[in-house]
Amino acid sequence: MSMSVKATRRSQCLLLTTGLKLMRRQKSTEPLTIVKPSFVPDCEPVDQGDVDLLQSFIDNNRALFVMTGAGISTESGIPDYRSEGVGLYARSTNRPVQYQDFVKSEKIRQRYWARNFVGWPRFSSFPPNISHKILSDWEKKGLVHWLVTQNVDALHFKAGSHNVTELHGSSHRVMCLSCNFKMPRTQLQNLLTELNPSWHAESVDIAPDGDVQLTQEQIEGFKVPACPKCGGNLKPEIVFFGDNVPKDRVNFVFSRLDECEAVLVFSGYRFVSKAFEQKKPIALVNIGNTRADNLANLKISAKCSEVLMKIHI
Ligand SMILES: [Zn+2]
Repeated sequence: MSMSVKATRRSQCLLLTTGLKLMRRQKSTEPLTIVKPSFVPDCEPVDQGDVDLLQSFIDNNRALFVMTGAGISTESGIPDYRSEGVGLYARSTNRPVQYQDFVKSEKIRQRYWARNFVGWPRFSSFPPNISHKILSDWEKKGLVHWLVTQNVDALHFKAGSHNVTELHGSSHRVMCLSCNFKMPRTQLQNLLTELNPSWHAESVDIAPDGDVQLTQEQIEGFKVPACPKCGGNLKPEIVFFGDNVPKDRVNFVFSRLDECEAVLVFSGYRFVSKAFEQKKPIALVNIGNTRADNLANLKISAKCSEVLMKIHI
């Protein structure tokens, strides 16, 4: 790489903690208005000097290993978990299900699938945004060798990327916990609809995995189908909190990392740390601070799309 190691640069980022206002009422007599929520943390416009450094990074490195996380999907309307003010944890007391709880408890599986059933039509229809499309285009032009995402929303595939590993699985697939049966999530939606013809609930908020908020009363009576092959319990093919990414998937990603010249990362620590050990050049784009900041040759704190749209290849 011809670019020398640059000091980490950070734009001053304003993280607002005003939270999310779904409803706005200006005068008590006016009807309630739905305000489209933004899940992108506020920050200042990207610094042109940072863009120039990233352009140089891209110009001098081919075969990129790209790693994305929740930050890339917030512009599609999907919140992340942890961003201050706008992430799920800041706005809701809902927390993602733990793997062991899901496996052990029928009640928790019922709650999970009822909420997922309500969230699915909306969650599955989120479109990819300009960042997903640019990375897909970069793959077609030979710049991206492999893309790894922590997201379970399938938006990189929807944008046309092929060389993708979904590190934490996908909400678009369902598996049996007892046998090797798998089915598309859309098929399960049909089964759930057939099993629950008179059950109905709605929710406005949505989590990064398609989860929504329902009361216990709303969940009562919701029926969950068993595996059509063995009668076992069905689970989305997502690596839940408290579970581990399968070892062969991690090794596969390490092999793709070995093949790459440089790393462009939007999220994730484990593979950045490995790339750092291998002395690969690392560029990091993320609003706010991350654990990996001091491993990156270049850190840009700005919106993914704003940065990517300014890069020419
Ligand atoms: Zn089964």
